[in-house]
Amino acid sequence: MALRCWRWWPRPAWLRSRPPPAGSPLSFRQPFSTQELTPQICVVGSGPAGFYTAQHLLKHHPRAHVDIYEKQLVPFGLVRFGVAPDHPEVKNVINTFTQTARSDRCAFRGNVVVGRDVLVPELREAYHAVVLSYGAEDHQALGIPGEELPGVLSARAFVGWYNGLPENQELAPDLSCDTAVILGQGNVALDVARILLMPPEHLEKTDITEAALGVLRQSQVKTVWIVGRRGPLQVAFTIKELREMIQLPGTRPVLDPADFLGIQDRIKEAARPRRRLTELLLRTATEKPGAEGAACQALASRSWGLRFFRSPLQVLPSPDGQRAAGIRLAVTRLEGAGEATRAVTTGDTEDLPCGLVLSSIGYKSRPIDPSVPFDPTLGIIPNTEGRVVDMPGLYCSGWVKRGPTGVIATTMNDSFLTSQMLLQDLRAGLLASAPRPGYVAIEALLSSRGVRPVSFSDWEKLDAEEVSRGQGAGKPREKLVDPQAMLRLLGPCA
Ligand code: FAD
Ligand code: NAP
Repeated sequence: MALRCWRWWPRPAWLRSRPPPAGSPLSFRQPFSTQELTPQICVVGSGPAGFYTAQHLLKHHPRAHVDIYEKQLVPFGLVRFGVAPDHPEVKNVINTFTQTARSDRCAFRGNVVVGRDVLVPELREAYHAVVLSYGAEDHQALGIPGEELPGVLSARAFVGWYNGLPENQELAPDLSCDTAVILGQGNVALDVARILLMPPEHLEKTDITEAALGVLRQSQVKTVWIVGRRGPLQVAFTIKELREMIQLPGTRPVLDPADFLGIQDRIKEAARPRRRLTELLLRTATEKPGAEGAACQALASRSWGLRFFRSPLQVLPSPDGQRAAGIRLAVTRLEGAGEATRAVTTGDTEDLPCGLVLSSIGYKSRPIDPSVPFDPTLGIIPNTEGRVVDMPGLYCSGWVKRGPTGVIATTMNDSFLTSQMLLQDLRAGLLASAPRPGYVAIEALLSSRGVRPVSFSDWEKLDAEEVSRGQGAGKPREKLVDPQAMLRLLGPCA
């Protein structure tokens, strides 16, 4: 990626006399004068967006100081609380984030809920610029009758539960049923299906919480249906994750060849990733496995399947009305072409019995503070390339900037762009030019409000404790999940 390779060369003499036009890449590349003040910048959220924004700012401004505020006691957002425990390699980005946090021009301020403990206008007073990178912490509601019944969970809460997110530790998912239905066909849906069906011993050496592992060991779930309102050509998951499902030990895929009629012709036009993904689906649906595969499948005690052209209509209650016993699905057909293909109901319905419904139709950002504009339809902060509209000095990056889709690499690129816009504005003199107090002012506010911020060295103590607790069981860590116990471990603020 061009931006990542770029080095800090002085501008050539012929360019130095002419200011580059605002918005041109050169206005970002131009070095800052040594006479300038130290920009105090704060970032809200310590997920990939927050850390990549901070990394880029520190790299491209020789004096900028960045404070990263985080509501959890611990850093790294969805890298810690979202990424599946059996994908440890994805979490290696934490090493880069740690380097950033250890910079003497960066500070982590955990256990501070922006919008509650400190308000965005207070941050804007204290800093030259504020970047909102607080992700998407809610889930998209299904909006159908029965959604509130016990036995219906959001995938977001289920993921938080097995990954040790404090607010989800009381979830107690009831896995005593035979069949679970997951609504939505994205990568989160496949993560959840994999965790539900994976032999628990395969999770024993991961950072899944011991409590979640205990519940999964007792699970009676044998069948998982992953339901999509559109067809095989529109699934939102990717090929690596599909392959993991197909190869999941002790399980058998169940795909209906009828769903794939005529698809061979239609994929010719598709982009390569979509074509390869659909070809794998097609092969899995229509070809007999080889001898080894057939033997494995014959022994499989669990199965998973993709149900296409089905849109959720109602969660069906058990006879006593006390919990979910199934889901009524509207049969759909597709209208439109390409990106605009959408599902429309045909009038037919189908009831699918199940004891657990996991809704995996997307995450959703919340407004943070009444002073910050928020688009409730798109679920984002309205912005132009990361500049919050009509709010000079306020920026956004990551999922709250562009919506709850995209992998860590997408979030990185988007955060670098936001940082680039901020640096351009700084250079163009669009941000306050007088010194700002930064954390000094906020620390006094937090202290007066009884908030005990957690520093990065505090986190390193918690990290060491988690690693040590995991050692006996051969796990990379046993996550601490009780914020009060974590604060007791840390003791009073240094
Ligand atoms: P987040 O990671 O959510 O970070 C936002 C941070 O802001 C959080 O730490 C949150 O606590 C904090 N925050 C929220 N509100 C406040 C507040 N009021 N005050 C202070 N702090 C606040 N991508 C991959 O590349 N590979 C994967 O394997 C992968 N797995 C995923 C699994 C799941 C279940 C999900 C949901 C996503 C996954 N992704 C994966 C996508 C990846 O996690 C996202 O692209 C990325 O995390 C988005 O970064 P973000 O910083 O915008 O949001
Ligand atoms: P997603 O990829 O947007 O998938 C959401 C799914 O929900 C889609 O199948 C969508 O169908 C469906 N859906 C949305 N609204 C619906 C409704 N009202 N009724 C029925 N179905 C509905 O979201 P996600 O799975 O939450 O993942 C979020 C992001 O994180 C993605 O970019 C994903 O790739 C990333 N992620 C990556 C990994 C990984 O790399 N391993 C793991 C997890 C997550 P339509 O297409 O019809 O709208």
